[in-house]
Amino acid sequence: MTANGDVDIPVLVVGAGPAGLLTCLVLAHYGVRSLLVERHAGESMLPRALGINVRSMEIFRSLGLEEDVQAMSVDVRGLPYITFMDSLQGPVLETIPLPAEDAAISVTWKAPARHSRPPWRRRASSSTTG
Ligand SMILES: Cc1cc2nc3c(=O)[nH]c(=O)nc-3n(C[C@H](O)[C@H](O)[C@H](O)COP(=O)(O)OP(=O)(O)OC[C@H]3O[C@@H](n4cnc5c(N)ncnc54)[C@H](O)[C@@H]3O)c2cc1C
Repeated sequence: MTANGDVDIPVLVVGAGPAGLLTCLVLAHYGVRSLLVERHAGESMLPRALGINVRSMEIFRSLGLEEDVQAMSVDVRGLPYITFMDSLQGPVLETIPLPAEDAAISVTWKAPARHSRPPWRRRASSSTTG
């Protein structure tokens, strides 16, 4: 902090969506300080990341987040399919068949539980400045 109260931060990241949060985590991983600003005070109640693809899991692993992500995920092996609906009464929007229980499963089908605060969000909160 300077004498007149200014804070000197090399990177300003605008938006705490997945891109902004991961940017801050990667910067922190390489020792670069950042300030993350978000226009919304809280988290959205609506899920927008129920599945995590293979590349995302690789990145989480490289940041040491894999264990946390696995711990909060639902293992969908053995379930026949995932159905997307507007409500429990329908209508059915889309149905995706899942691999058999004994099939090698892609981490694509790891589904973070909806109401938990994602580990990448928790980690970014503790990694960023401000
Ligand atoms: C219904 C739905 C389901 C989805 N399901 C999945 C899924 O299962 N798996 C998956 O991988 N993806 C899923 N997605 C897509 C995923 O949510 C998006 O790809 C992802 O959110 C994009 O991330 P982002 O950080 O680029 O943008 P955003 O998530 O849109 O984040 C941008 C952030 O920047 C903030 N912002 C914008 N302007 C400003 C400003 N001027 N000042 C401060 N803050 C600002 C916004 O408030 C917002 O929080 C889903 C999307 C939807 C809509």
